[in-house]
Amino acid sequence: MKNIILLILIAVPLLATAQNNNGLSNNKKCISMKAINTLEFPQLPYSTDALEPFIDQQTVEIHYGKHQKAYFDNFLAAVKGTDAENLTILEVFKNISKYPAAVKNNGGGFYNHVIYWESIKPNSGKPSAKLAEAINKKFGSLDELKKQFSDAGKTRFGSGWAWLSVDEKGELFVSSTANQESPLMDVAEKQGTPILAMDVWEHAYYLKYQNRRPDYIESFWQIINWDVVSSKYEALVK
Ligand code: MN
Repeated sequence: MKNIILLILIAVPLLATAQNNNGLSNNKKCISMKAINTLEFPQLPYSTDALEPFIDQQTVEIHYGKHQKAYFDNFLAAVKGTDAENLTILEVFKNISKYPAAVKNNGGGFYNHVIYWESIKPNSGKPSAKLAEAINKKFGSLDELKKQFSDAGKTRFGSGWAWLSVDEKGELFVSSTANQESPLMDVAEKQGTPILAMDVWEHAYYLKYQNRRPDYIESFWQIINWDVVSSKYEALVK
């Protein structure tokens, strides 16, 4: 009996922790809080075929294993031997205009994809009550958010990202950034903390969708990880 009680005492908090993370590993949660020179390339939160048929396995394999991995390796190489290697990604990003382009391009290239993979998952779900309320207040409806966010992705000329972020007042906003910039960087037109990221570089969709970026964007909306997006929102506004 004593052993069972002990087991419950240990297991319940562990289960609660796993639940709170909403599928994010501790490793991922800490990426933005660790010194850059201690980072390890994170695991994908699911298998490479998990997003089929919306995003095909080969695209995920190349996007994660080749593109993101190259950004990660080049980012570590770009900060190696500089003061930046002892800072966190967030510390570097908020002063990114003071760093060489290789730090911005590869640091953004690495961390934007961390947020991207967390933003999607096989079974989408829906925004939490609290996030849904904030979406309705700011955009009028989820459909209007979808329209504005999708337009931000469709109208980004060349390569870049669409974002849903929270600003310093705790308000939601939609934006787009070029190349590997992000709302976390001081070069962004409007700064904030991203809770949802959509990659609109051709490498994110070309194998399956070729030139049809709007079709990829429509598919992206079928696989948004609303659990993670909602928990990020709630953590930022509490
Ligand atoms: Mn990408």
